[in-house]
Amino acid sequence: MNIEGTQVVLRLSSDPAILAELRKKKSLTVINGREVFVRQFDSRPFEFTPGSQVTVGETVAKALVRDSSFIVGDALTGQVVHALEILKSFDAGKGVTANVCPYCSKPFDRPQQLGRHLLRDCENLPESAKSEDAAEEAADESPVPSGVPASD
Ligand SMILES: [Zn+2]
Repeated sequence: MNIEGTQVVLRLSSDPAILAELRKKKSLTVINGREVFVRQFDSRPFEFTPGSQVTVGETVAKALVRDSSFIVGDALTGQVVHALEILKSFDAGKGVTANVCPYCSKPFDRPQQLGRHLLRDCENLPESAKSEDAAEEAADESPVPSGVPASD
């Protein structure tokens, strides 16, 4: 597994023209009294509010920035802009424990999110890992192939 050490700080553009365009397109919506720009990556929503910064892994950052592009003005002659901009990127360094699911490689910002994913959401989680007594179950594993009807 390739553990991503490069972290990227993203922020929503502060360009008034871009923000105005996002509001017009309803891409910038008001949730709980604040304006939020939401983009999804791998079924995970990432929320950006004007002025705030979000740090994600490089792969996620590139996908989000790419996904945040839109055309200002006419579809043919308008200028392509990105609602999200990269503020900086930095190497988190070796030895950093990336919060990446070992079963489906989904990245998470926080260990708690990964924990929740492992408990509830992961689709690739093997049966043995779901059991609290995984070790016992593994020892119990039968070499008899499944799906073969037993003959007496
Ligand atoms: Zn997973």
